[in-house]
Amino acid sequence: MFGCPVDAKASPISVGLPRALATGRLDLRPASRVHELVVDAAGRVTTARYLDAKGRQHEVRARQFIVAGGSLGSAHLLLMSRSGRFRDGLANGSGLVGRHLMYHVLPAVYYLHETVTRGWLGPVSGQAIDDLHASDPTRGFVRGAVVTEAYPATPVVYASSAGGLWGPALKDYLRQFNRVHALIGIGEDLPVHGNRVDLDPVHRDELGLPVWRITHAPHANDLKLKAYYEQKMLEIAAAAGAERSWVVDMTQGSTGHLLGTCRMGVDAEKSVLDRWCRSHEVDNLWVVDGSCFPTSGGYNPTLTIVANAYRVADRFIREARRLNLR
Ligand SMILES: Cc1cc2nc3c(=O)[nH]c(=O)nc-3n(C[C@H](O)[C@H](O)[C@H](O)COP(=O)(O)OP(=O)(O)OC[C@H]3O[C@@H](n4cnc5c(N)ncnc54)[C@H](O)[C@@H]3O)c2cc1C
Repeated sequence: MFGCPVDAKASPISVGLPRALATGRLDLRPASRVHELVVDAAGRVTTARYLDAKGRQHEVRARQFIVAGGSLGSAHLLLMSRSGRFRDGLANGSGLVGRHLMYHVLPAVYYLHETVTRGWLGPVSGQAIDDLHASDPTRGFVRGAVVTEAYPATPVVYASSAGGLWGPALKDYLRQFNRVHALIGIGEDLPVHGNRVDLDPVHRDELGLPVWRITHAPHANDLKLKAYYEQKMLEIAAAAGAERSWVVDMTQGSTGHLLGTCRMGVDAEKSVLDRWCRSHEVDNLWVVDGSCFPTSGGYNPTLTIVANAYRVADRFIREARRLNLR
């Protein structure tokens, strides 16, 4: 977790954690890695086992457990928590823990202005075009994307789009940096059963835990969506008077927006969590992060993750006050 060094931007580090610490009731244990949630004979979680930064083993016992390890971390932890009761991983009776991993499709176009604009100065304007978002059967794919104005944030990011250029050609490419602008789409990728995170059968990390293994291939719909928005963005750049514009591949290796893996739903056979992010199978286990998303939506996801966390927290507190949480 990293935050804004001057607390100018809201994040859990600048907003939630200081307030929670001020209550005197938060016991924060940084640099800890939870590697197992232990269940009792009734199938309820009793204990979290974790390793500290030096690899020393610790345990915490509690009545309720809220997991928030992100789409990779939460699924990884549940899959590592195997027992006689949950042989394929905790709360994984549906077999869906780790599945339906989504990344977002990121169609992107860079374009050159004739004059120096220094688009990288200051934050992006926050302008976005949502007119092309809704599903339209005539386009040959479902769902859509929001198109945002952006820029290649640093010379290094810009240079990484230079492909195989080298020598004078690379220098010419880099000299364009003060004139380059970008359009980026955040496209909804489809939840695919085979796209998943699971436990690597061979490799272990420095603490001896199985590392997560990601298996992912884009759905044909994702590729059609990407191609459509790339073409639209080239048209937008041309209409803006671009001297030149070109498609940039940002999807490969772009794993900023990780969603899915513990999907939320009403049917316990088709989802891991109920509508309150509580496990269908283990009533004192909650998973509250991006992993609960059943679909990815074509927008930046984090404010929705945060809003959902507040929604679930309200529910949790209400249920606790009614003494419904054992
Ligand atoms: C470079 C970059 C730019 C981004 N820009 C944007 C943006 O502009 N807008 C936007 O909406 N989103 C953006 N995102 C996405 C955003 O960061 C994520 O959507 C969001 O952080 C996901 O929240 P989360 O709670 O699901 O997981 P996370 O924020 O990843 O939190 C999970 C935490 O759990 C910890 N953890 C995992 N496993 C364990 C374990 N076993 N034990 C202990 N701790 C564990 C992790 O270390 C992590 O701190 C960006 C992401 C990146 C990488």
